[in-house]
Amino acid sequence: MSEDTLFGKIIRREIPADIVYEDDLCLAFRDITPQAPTHILVIPKQPIAMLSAAQAEDKALLGHLIFAVSEIARQQKLDSGYRVVINTGEDGGQTVFHLHLHLLGGRALGWPPG
Ligand code: AMP
Repeated sequence: MSEDTLFGKIIRREIPADIVYEDDLCLAFRDITPQAPTHILVIPKQPIAMLSAAQAEDKALLGHLIFAVSEIARQQKLDSGYRVVINTGEDGGQTVFHLHLHLLGGRALGWPPG
């Protein structure tokens, strides 16, 4: 188990979020500081601190999260493409230590990222 974070508070509805998708295993809501016209965070309800902390028993959950992103992208009509990002650890630029997938779309995205 990881420490509780503000994403845990969003899961428990203790702080508000613009939720766009939910199922048994994950929750998705709009990023409060969007970096693209569509910027959604997809998080597991079970808190894993970061990708590097995932265990073999989390494999099915990780697959579920990626498939959920693809469903949300379809719902959001990101038909011309999108990017999925998992910032991991200090050098990865992670600031909230509850695993989350960024879904970014709605504009052409540059490469390489910063
Ligand atoms: P990361 O830097 O990969 O850890 O991403 C954390 C993300 O959480 C950032 O893009 C923040 O803008 C976003 N964020 C922080 N607080 C909130 C919040 N209360 N609601 C929605 N998104 C948030």
